[in-house]
Amino acid sequence: MGEDESGAARIGSAPKRPNVERLRSELDDYMSRQQLRSTEQRRLIIDTFFESQEHMTIDDLLAVVRRSDAKIGYATVYRTMKMLAAGGIAHEHRFGDGFTRYELADDDAHHDHLICEDCGGIEEFEEPLIEELQERIAERYGFTVRDHKHELYGQCRECRMKANAGNNKG
Ligand SMILES: [Zn+2]
Ligand SMILES: [Zn+2]
Repeated sequence: MGEDESGAARIGSAPKRPNVERLRSELDDYMSRQQLRSTEQRRLIIDTFFESQEHMTIDDLLAVVRRSDAKIGYATVYRTMKMLAAGGIAHEHRFGDGFTRYELADDDAHHDHLICEDCGGIEEFEEPLIEELQERIAERYGFTVRDHKHELYGQCRECRMKANAGNNKG
């Protein structure tokens, strides 16, 4: 079962996990259509990304893949992730801290994000009401929604508790 080594606890009902097998075969199709070569380093980066359940930066991925192959360079990881994004396999997020983060792109497992500005923690949430509401708004404007992002910025529960504990001491 999933070993949750990171401290990023998921609060509430966790969104559906992406369908890894379907994304894998979409990636194979994309790579053969684009005649992209599957090198050993590329495979390692892709496997690592598919196994990670986090919002990984290039540096995060690089640190993990280098445990298996110390010769992998930043540019290779960067280009591989750009390829995954171009193929619709990965979503790129910029959550305002200057880093680009990647996660598996699965529209059936759609979720949105709560971003803590104090610790940088990223929480995922799923809310059918928001999805429904935006469809209604789009309809009102004769607009067809292709994609959307809801990013809520603020302070997470842990940071608020820490802040409160600090205040009580003083
Ligand atoms: Zn926080
Ligand atoms: Zn996410």
